[in-house]
Amino acid sequence: MSGKRVFSGARPTGKQHLGNYLGAIRNYVNLQEQGYETIYCVVDLHAMTTSFENLRELTAEMVLDWMAAGVDPEKSIIFVQSSVPEVIELAWYFSTITPLGWLLRLPTFKEKVRAQPDNVNYGLVGYPVLMAADITLYKAEVVPVGVDQAPHLEFTREVVRRFNHLFGPVLVEPQALYTDFPKVLGIDGVNKMSKSLNNHIEISASPEEIHQRVMMMVTDPQRTHRHIPGRPEVCNVFSFHKFFSPKEVEMIDRECRTAGIGCVDCKKILSRNISDYFAPFRQKRQELASDPSLVWDVLEDGRKRAKSIAEKTMAEVREAIYSKKPAGG
Ligand code: SF4
Repeated sequence: MSGKRVFSGARPTGKQHLGNYLGAIRNYVNLQEQGYETIYCVVDLHAMTTSFENLRELTAEMVLDWMAAGVDPEKSIIFVQSSVPEVIELAWYFSTITPLGWLLRLPTFKEKVRAQPDNVNYGLVGYPVLMAADITLYKAEVVPVGVDQAPHLEFTREVVRRFNHLFGPVLVEPQALYTDFPKVLGIDGVNKMSKSLNNHIEISASPEEIHQRVMMMVTDPQRTHRHIPGRPEVCNVFSFHKFFSPKEVEMIDRECRTAGIGCVDCKKILSRNISDYFAPFRQKRQELASDPSLVWDVLEDGRKRAKSIAEKTMAEVREAIYSKKPAGG
């Protein structure tokens, strides 16, 4: 048992897809089962920098998926970011001690500007400050990150160091917990799996829907004919086999290279395995969804637990800020 406190946030994106599952949810469950004190937050305030649409529905669907996949509200705190408004107050304090240059140089800001050039809002620039508040409000000691997210966490650490330097050692500098966040490509085999690109496969999809989507997956472009051998290492279908088909993966590797198996049969194996893998999940999701108030009860319980941590932190933060004396005074 580690016992360390972990914080992770995810934007409300509704029903989750294979990319969300392999990249985040699976890890949420693992950390919870490894004995970390896990706090999982639906970061609706961050989502608003892109869109205000359907935040309630998207939240409920995502949390249902988390729970059906094994995130257990008895073991983990699951809550919505905006339901603990202290985070906004802390973000404001942070914004007054954060040089603008720190924000503008972050790669994510540039990416966001490229992604939504018509909506370059103030929140988009400041969102790493809010993220720093998310993490530190709950005094998280570790934050699971992929290598590409490391600059965000380093930013948070810088803000914490600056705050503690100015006001005293109040906040915890979080450590990165580098986890295996595989880049999961969509069925187009080119872009990261994403709902907005409609190249995703939902984990709650029916076996028929899974089959349909898997059959649309792009394979090794060199394999233009059944008799031409393929290269599993460049085929996205094979990447999924590595996770979902432990029994067949060696056979597929061999048979693909010798044209012993065709792509259609290969995909049939994959769609069956994905479907079997998520069968218990679908069953559980259906049970959970039969009680429409369940998700909201879980989030309310999570809010209370999160708020009690947040209130303690904020009492210390306010005391530190408002008791500051002039330098040398
Ligand atoms: Fe990809 Fe399978 Fe076709 Fe080989 S046989 S190219 S692994 S889909």
